[in-house]
Amino acid sequence: MPPASFACICCGFTSFTEKPLLKESETLRICSSCGTGETFPVPHPEKLEEQYSSAYYGENNVKFISPLEKMVEGATLRRTWWIHSLISPEGKVLDIGCGRGLLLKYLNKLKHPAFGVERSELAATRALQTEGITIYTKPFVECNFGTNTFDAIIIWHVLEHIEHPSETLEKIYKLLNPSGYLFLEVPNFNSWQSVLSGKFWFHLDFERHYYHFSKKGLIKLLTGKGFAITNIKTFSFEQSPYGFLQSLMNLFTREPEYLYKILKKEIKLPFYKKTFYFLLAGFLLPVAIILSVCESMMGRGGVLRVVCRK
Ligand SMILES: [Zn+2]
Repeated sequence: MPPASFACICCGFTSFTEKPLLKESETLRICSSCGTGETFPVPHPEKLEEQYSSAYYGENNVKFISPLEKMVEGATLRRTWWIHSLISPEGKVLDIGCGRGLLLKYLNKLKHPAFGVERSELAATRALQTEGITIYTKPFVECNFGTNTFDAIIIWHVLEHIEHPSETLEKIYKLLNPSGYLFLEVPNFNSWQSVLSGKFWFHLDFERHYYHFSKKGLIKLLTGKGFAITNIKTFSFEQSPYGFLQSLMNLFTREPEYLYKILKKEIKLPFYKKTFYFLLAGFLLPVAIILSVCESMMGRGGVLRVVCRK
């Protein structure tokens, strides 16, 4: 049982259930009130540094095989125009966990002064090669930006990787202009794909994720910090269908993330095994697309995409 002082970071509740993970030494503590999960024991910072290696960000600044790279670029461009359409022209933007800086590069092309924070020096080095954007390699909480500095702050699939999300959100609130926007996305721990696949859920990624947010928990956390939520969606073209597909494949094969590793060129498999994975993916893809759309229609999609105003 967790110690008595242990409280949920989203709602403060102190009663939890525990669920085993793929590694027997690790479990998930799930808040009995809001359903937010926490990896226990917490991922070790040194081990995390190893996880954010060139394999995570891709060799030579390329993360996936070529057609997928194009899809990632297309999705980032769509996100750029979406953010650009909501914030003031030439509004100043900050991307926390900016990776190789693709979004900042596109926003900067639309005349937005663009700043990024990236913990991985490898990814930051790549982002720094992009003209016109400023990258900080310190942890976000140690960066000094002043107050009321940004028109938009983006934190995209990053909050779950952070040991102290509460302090991070407090700092974001201070950094935003009085009418500034926060754009946030995290995996949805209460999605159908998560509930169905349990410890095999693709977006669980418990070796890197400290927290696993539910919709109820995230709303509680954000509103508790003073943010006004203007929009919340649970479908992501980039994340939801693939998340469902990989989770189903994990369930069937009991071999976690093999397709993902093939697409990222992380592993080399014999031809027959590769063919098997692609055939299985082709068979399950329509099912995954249909299910990911259905779960989103029920408000239980694979991600929590939230837009907030200060
Ligand atoms: Zn809670």
